[in-house]
Amino acid sequence: MSASSPSVPVSGTGVVPGIAYAPVVWIRPRPELPKGGEAVPEEHREAEYERFQSAAETVAQRLENRSEQAEGPAAEVLKATAGMVRDRGWQKAVRKNVRGGHSAEYSVVTATDKFVNMFEAAGGVMAERTMDLKDIRDRVVAELRGEPEPGLPQVSKEAVLFADDLSPADTAALDTTHIIGLVTELGGPTSHTAIIARQLNLPCIVAAGVALRNISAGEVVLVDGALGTVTVDADPEEARQMVAESRSRAEAIARWVGPATTRDGHRVQLLANVQDGNAARIAASSQAEGIGLFRTELCFLNATEEPSVEEQAEVYSKVLAAYPESKVVVRSLDAGSDKPIAYANMSEEENPALGVRGLRIARDNEALLTRQLDAIALASQKLGRGEQAPTWVMAPMLATAREAKWFAGLCQERGLTAGAMIEVPAAALMADKIMPYLDFVSIGTNDLTQYTMAADRMSPQLAYLTDPWQPAVLRLIKHTCLEGKRTGTPVGVCGEAAADPLLACVLTGLGVDSLSAASTAVAGVGAQLAEVDLETCQKAAEAALDSSGAQEAREAVRAILLG
Ligand code: PEP
Ligand code: MG
Repeated sequence: MSASSPSVPVSGTGVVPGIAYAPVVWIRPRPELPKGGEAVPEEHREAEYERFQSAAETVAQRLENRSEQAEGPAAEVLKATAGMVRDRGWQKAVRKNVRGGHSAEYSVVTATDKFVNMFEAAGGVMAERTMDLKDIRDRVVAELRGEPEPGLPQVSKEAVLFADDLSPADTAALDTTHIIGLVTELGGPTSHTAIIARQLNLPCIVAAGVALRNISAGEVVLVDGALGTVTVDADPEEARQMVAESRSRAEAIARWVGPATTRDGHRVQLLANVQDGNAARIAASSQAEGIGLFRTELCFLNATEEPSVEEQAEVYSKVLAAYPESKVVVRSLDAGSDKPIAYANMSEEENPALGVRGLRIARDNEALLTRQLDAIALASQKLGRGEQAPTWVMAPMLATAREAKWFAGLCQERGLTAGAMIEVPAAALMADKIMPYLDFVSIGTNDLTQYTMAADRMSPQLAYLTDPWQPAVLRLIKHTCLEGKRTGTPVGVCGEAAADPLLACVLTGLGVDSLSAASTAVAGVGAQLAEVDLETCQKAAEAALDSSGAQEAREAVRAILLG
């Protein structure tokens, strides 16, 4: 690529912020899997099975040795993977296939397929385990063939590791003195790769897509784990400066401990956004003080039928239990638009983002909402949550005072603290009429931006409009905060804006009381707030409000906060 035509960066989901600049190494390929093979004569089948057993034992031993050299979750992952190689059920399935006359290699493949299909059918967490199964299959097949172990290459210099996906065992065995960044084509923010990369504080991007394959081993790349971008033709001088800045920022973030305050002691509550018990437990091990947004609809994306009150309570308990002594804000089902739920969204719509989504579903189906509220109340009671560990409930997509009154009434009947998301511009503008019914509000900047700018949040072409730095959005936030102060209603922000350390300062300056973001972003926000005083945040807020556009607002705020 010539300097005059810089390539478009490959982008994915940034899961661990930080900058890495180094040549690429690709993970060693997985073995070609046999599709059949010659029948093994009866008299050789016992020996063939022994051949499998010995290969499996070598693989398990190797993983165990690595586990002994690792610590924490990495050691556990390696030990668990070794355990899977020795799993009786899996080995029995291989034996059955070998006894049926198949080669050890082919028997391993078909036995694994059987379990993969079973796990995929079960869905959820079980489906995530199929990656581990395929990994042990590949290791054993390579061992049977005398091929090198698939997975991590040996590296002796700093490098960024690229992979289609990393198995938990590979991620756990990473040589972090040399591997300084991680990019995977597949995977998601809660995959093992992401969890361990977070633990190692290794800049990491997942779900970068097939475009990643266009980048060859040895090419020098700039990985931005916050933006989720991989650039192949970055200016070396600028890249090195970015690395240096990122390291000193990472050091400040690693040193930071909550609870968050500005330099002059103004308190801002930092909370986490989660979608299940697993994410809540990860949040509890971060500096997040509680949960500011539990997206309940994400628990039921695959459900064809509505879970019973008891089943729902079980799911909610897992999240509540992660914070037995602090606040958890549960959002009622935000089904519809980009998150359709089979049992909640009844009809096809022309414009689903402007359609029957969120609280609107309950207008014609109040029982769906009240069963959910019953389940939240049940989970909260069972765990004995009270004033020390309040359970708050908020409605998504609320637009009118009448809806606020109705929702609050249903919550109060069940002893729940009622709030609403401010994500429809009308709700921000009508805050004075809405707030009297509610105990708190939380601004959803993702949708508030989409609806204020009339720009689909899913559209990559409109990303310049769906930018929470848009002064129009900030003006609605300011109005909401002013009404919050006037009516004594706490105002939080739980959209992605809360994850941006500089924008977090602006929001604090506007009067927001709490910020809720992905738990990985919390320490970065806390460390930034600790460096500025409230008056500077207020000046930054004024500058942003007075800017003519999002980019101008960013620049004005950078100049004030970073000098
Ligand atoms: C938002 O709209 O900002 C928000 C937090 O909700 P979601 O992203 O789930 O729509
Ligand atoms: Mg929203």
